[in-house]
Amino acid sequence: MKLKTKLIHGGIDGDPATGAVSVPIYQVSTYKQDGIGNHKGFEYSRTGNPTRLACEELIKDIEGGARGFAFGSGMAAMSAIIMLFKQGDHFIVGDDVYGGSYRVLTNVFNQFGIDVTFVDTSKMEEVEAALKDNTVALFLETPSNPLLKVSDIQQIAQFTKEKELMLIVDNTFMTPYWQNPIELGADIVLHSATKYLGGHSDVVAGLAVVNNDELGERLHYIQNAVGGILGPQDSWLLIRGIKTLGVRMQEHENNTKEIVAFLQKRDDIESIYYPGLKLHQGHDIQQKQARGFGGMVSFDVGSAERAERVLAKVKYFTLAESLGAVESLISVPAKMTHASIPAERRAQLGITDGLVRISVGLEDIEDLIEDLTQALED
Ligand SMILES: *Cc1c(COP(=O)(O)O)cnc(C)c1O
Repeated sequence: MKLKTKLIHGGIDGDPATGAVSVPIYQVSTYKQDGIGNHKGFEYSRTGNPTRLACEELIKDIEGGARGFAFGSGMAAMSAIIMLFKQGDHFIVGDDVYGGSYRVLTNVFNQFGIDVTFVDTSKMEEVEAALKDNTVALFLETPSNPLLKVSDIQQIAQFTKEKELMLIVDNTFMTPYWQNPIELGADIVLHSATKYLGGHSDVVAGLAVVNNDELGERLHYIQNAVGGILGPQDSWLLIRGIKTLGVRMQEHENNTKEIVAFLQKRDDIESIYYPGLKLHQGHDIQQKQARGFGGMVSFDVGSAERAERVLAKVKYFTLAESLGAVESLISVPAKMTHASIPAERRAQLGITDGLVRISVGLEDIEDLIEDLTQALED
C-alpha cells in the first residue's frame, strides 16, 4: 500500500461489524468478560480502547514501525518515552528542541536523576563530544524550531547504533508524509499530533512509534502504568485529521514556497530560514532524507519593533503559538515560544528579536501574500 492510500486505509479500516466506513467512537471504560480473564482483547480503556487502537495502528503503519501509541498530548508522549530510562542516565538533546521538551527535561525529569547535555545536533562533532559513560539516548528534532536547522538522521543513527544509544526523533514538523525517521535508523518517533496530524487546531494529542516489539511492550507497560492516554473522541478526531494529511502537506508546502519566493524578492528581509532554499544550511541533507521541505518558514525583519508592527498589521495570519493547522499562524519566537530561554542564550542560537516565524496555512496564496505585503509596509 502506498503512503497516500495508507493515510486513508491504514490501521483498522472502518468497522467490520456494521460496515461503517469510519471507525466508531468506543466511548467506554470497561469490557464484559465471559469468564475471569476471558475477554475479546480489551479489559479496561487505559490499557486499550478500540478507537485508540485504530489510531495507534494507523500511526504505526504510516511511520513504518512495529507499534504505535496515542497519548493525551505531545508532552505526555515525550514523558512516557523518558520513563523508559532511569536515574543516573544521560541524554544528548538538540539545543533548539521544543520549549516544552526542554522544560520537562530540565525542570521535571532532572528531579528524577535524568542528566542532559544540549548540543547542535546538525553538527556531528558536537554530538560525539557530548557522549558520556552513562549516555543512553539521543533526542532531536529536524528541521528544528525556529531556525529550521537540519540534522542528518542516518549519520546520527550510525553513531547511536555503534554506541548502543537509543535514537528518538520528534517528527512533528515533517510528519510521516515527508519524513520517516524509523526507516532512517531511529528507534522511536514522536509527534505532537496537535499540529499537522490533527491539522485543524481542534485536538491536543501525542503519538509515539517504536521500531521493535520488545520496545513496544516496554512503552505499553509505561503507557498503561502511568496513564497519559488519548481518549476515544480525540483518537477519532486524529484519525479523521490524518486522512487528509497528504493533500494538506502538499498544499502547505506549495503556499510556503510562494511565500519564500515573495520574501526573497524583498530587500528589507535580512535572512530567510527554509530548508527548501539551496543556500540553507541543511538543504542537501533534507533532500536526501525527506520527500519535502514543509510549511514552516522563519525570517528576520531586522528589529523587535518591526516584528511587532508586522504582527499587529496582519489580517489572515493569526498571532498564536502552535503550528501545522489550516489557519496561517504567525509568531515572534524570542517573545513567545522561546521567551523562557535567556536572552544571551537566544543570541547564541541566532534567535534574534526581529525573527518572525510563520506556519503557512491553506488560505488562498494571493490573500496571504497581499496580507504580508501590507504588513511589511512601513
Ligand atoms: C507542540 C510541540 C510539542 C508538544 O506537543 P503538545 O501536543 O503541545 O504537548 C513537541 N514537539 C514539537 C516539535 C512541538 O511543536
